Amino acid sequence: MNGLGQRIARLIQAQGPISVAQFMTIALHDPQSGYYATRDPFGRKGDFITAPEVSQMFGELLGLWIAQCWRDQKRPEARLVELGPGRGTLMNDALRVIGQLMPEFLAKVEVVLVEASPTLTGIQKDTLAKSGANIRWTAQFDDALAGKPLFLLANEFFDALPIRQFVKTEHGWCERMVVLNADGALDFALTPQAAPSSLIPPNRGGAPLGAFHEISPAAGALTQQIAEAIARQGGAALIVDYGYGADAGFGETLQAVCNHKYANVLAAPGDADLSAHVDFAVLADEARAAGAKPYGPAGQGDLLEAIGIVQRAATLARGQLGNSPEIDAQLERLILPGQMGTLFKALAILPDAAPTPPGF
Ligand code: SAH
Repeated sequence: MNGLGQRIARLIQAQGPISVAQFMTIALHDPQSGYYATRDPFGRKGDFITAPEVSQMFGELLGLWIAQCWRDQKRPEARLVELGPGRGTLMNDALRVIGQLMPEFLAKVEVVLVEASPTLTGIQKDTLAKSGANIRWTAQFDDALAGKPLFLLANEFFDALPIRQFVKTEHGWCERMVVLNADGALDFALTPQAAPSSLIPPNRGGAPLGAFHEISPAAGALTQQIAEAIARQGGAALIVDYGYGADAGFGETLQAVCNHKYANVLAAPGDADLSAHVDFAVLADEARAAGAKPYGPAGQGDLLEAIGIVQRAATLARGQLGNSPEIDAQLERLILPGQMGTLFKALAILPDAAPTPPGF
């Protein structure tokens, strides 16, 4: 067991079993050894590659999407927030095209990056040093960000939010906890008592024994906060992540990834990325309940094609003679169904009365 594993074991010894959500929070964000707190996990040498790291086209098109929504809403003084900006690549690509095509956006919009990790904040500052935008950083999204029209981007952020897991047993849905087994190792075990039925939606009634149900209270609460701000002040959010719409399965989706390979979730906390599929149907419901209008989720491939990625790829290929196989490969990776095109989805949230956003 690594050092963080031993600390988690001591915590469980002292306080009893912890939920999967608590385990995820510690493994990802422990200030000394948490996964995001201590490293730059992206890119070929890192543990995984995200869409903005695949190609500049991703950030450019999302930037244009935001700028178009801003124009549709009469170019207000506003805030552009990105949740979990990673290396800052998406925002850098977005601001570059926005600056070229709609420079007045940069004059009227304050950019705020929400980042928990000091390591990644440092990398983002380097990436964005020459962006020419007015940028500040904060460690979490709070209502202070919601005092102006709110334009918001989040790519692969919601999948990192902690989830609780429940397993269907003969006496109801029992929560899966992290415990110490007889050998003193971290292990999973179910609570003996069933969870309150209010935590499980009625449409899970027909689930077979052993089925999983996952919820992310943090994702739901955050979506509600964002949607309330957008309903009240105007703005637009685009949440892109891997996950499901109305088609939640019965398996678990919690996964650990280390060096581009799947790893054991409990084996080395802090050394592997932990994530889970995003339940877009729940996020859309939260947005609606908060008085805003959700669009989608649309497949990432469909959205990117609808907002011009094929044309953008052709332009880039013309500019980089001889390099177009690389651009073709990037394009395929972002939009093909077997790659990131359908597993990754995009949910937009706008005020009820705003024009339909591009691509939906
Ligand atoms: N959007 C980037 C990075 C995705 S990884 C990209 O597409 O490349 C997730 C990002 O969210 C990281 O920057 C991580 O440090 C940050 N993050 C994860 N959980 C967070 C939380 N609870 N609060 C703030 N930032 C968080």
